[in-house]
Amino acid sequence: MKPLEDRIADQVKQIPRSGIRDFFELVQGRDDVISLGVGEPDFSAPWHIREAAIYSLEKGHTSYTSNLGLLSLRESISRYVTGQFGVTYDPANEVLVTVGVSEALDLVCRALLNPGDEVIYHEPCYVSYSPSIALAYGVAVPVETRVEDEFVLKAEDVAAKITDRTRVILLNFPTNPTGAVEPVEELQKIADLAIEHDLIVVSDEIYCELLYDEETGMELGEHVSIASLPGMKERTILLHGFSKAFAMTGFRLGYACAPQILTEAMMKIHQYSMLCAPIMSQNAAIEALENGAEEVERMRRAYARRRNLVLKRFREMGIPCFSPGGAFYAFPDIRKFGLSSKDFAFRLLEEEDVAVVPGDAFGMAGEGCVRACYATSYEQLEIAMDRIEAFVSRLES
Ligand code: PLP
Repeated sequence: MKPLEDRIADQVKQIPRSGIRDFFELVQGRDDVISLGVGEPDFSAPWHIREAAIYSLEKGHTSYTSNLGLLSLRESISRYVTGQFGVTYDPANEVLVTVGVSEALDLVCRALLNPGDEVIYHEPCYVSYSPSIALAYGVAVPVETRVEDEFVLKAEDVAAKITDRTRVILLNFPTNPTGAVEPVEELQKIADLAIEHDLIVVSDEIYCELLYDEETGMELGEHVSIASLPGMKERTILLHGFSKAFAMTGFRLGYACAPQILTEAMMKIHQYSMLCAPIMSQNAAIEALENGAEEVERMRRAYARRRNLVLKRFREMGIPCFSPGGAFYAFPDIRKFGLSSKDFAFRLLEEEDVAVVPGDAFGMAGEGCVRACYATSYEQLEIAMDRIEAFVSRLES
């Protein structure tokens, strides 16, 4: 019999395991570790949303739904998206409910790419982008964003990567892992490039409710979706979900909004691979969209306070850290210690029991930084920052 590893498809063999998961296997079983690692809210989903899932079960709603998702949920999504992004999608055929943004990303790649088609995206970025493209036989074309530019994606850097095989530009603002928000003028230039070169834009806006104003960090910052810019709705697939702002990671629910032909293509794959998203999660999501705004704002304000604490403490330690405009991540620049981001993170874990993610887990452009997720309690963050301070003062002495 042939060795089992020879049975694995080439494109699966090629993709690396997630650097985050590898790192967090080390954290397992260590009791005193404070984890600023996994990008997940420390809050449980608000009670009224959990109750909606419970009622769904109580009422015996345990069936499949339409492949696109419950019409009532798609109607809620359409209203919410109009309010949030200023773009309106027809719930009948322009909204597809998915199993998280993760599934939506996979559907987008499989629906749009022929073998060898290129997807331009910015690094450092969410760990799934490059593997999702590769698994759909596409070619991942990263564009580096730099700490010196506060991780703004420069349209000229995007332009330099466009070839006659480019099909898609994939964007994520606010960005995981940096928290960067794209200035509207730059977003407009990227939109102009997409129109000029006739490209589809996929915009993952999963953190768009978690925004912090420039001045105090406490007020709600402004979000502009590329889908709302002139001429863009017809060439954009907007991805959003419930995991982050509503603290609903375990419900596994997201959605894609796009022109009907693109929605239909994604739906074809979804209907054969997933059939539909779970009905109790869909019922909970309706409650989240209709009545969740206050809780989202409560959690956002808690993140804002923590963000300010983390930034202040890093800066007091002399570690440069730009002000992230969104999400729940800080991405401090640790180059001055002369350690790779992996060595820094491993030693911090070994010596002080604090877990942060090495920046290179998000692509080579992340090397020299680490990601600290501040979706953990204020009190725990205070202890974590004390421990980081002890660690860096030892490095410096
Ligand atoms: N997109 C980004 C940028 C993320 O950071 C994450 C999760 O960390 C996801 C997508 C996946 O989200 P979901 O839980 O909806 O699959």
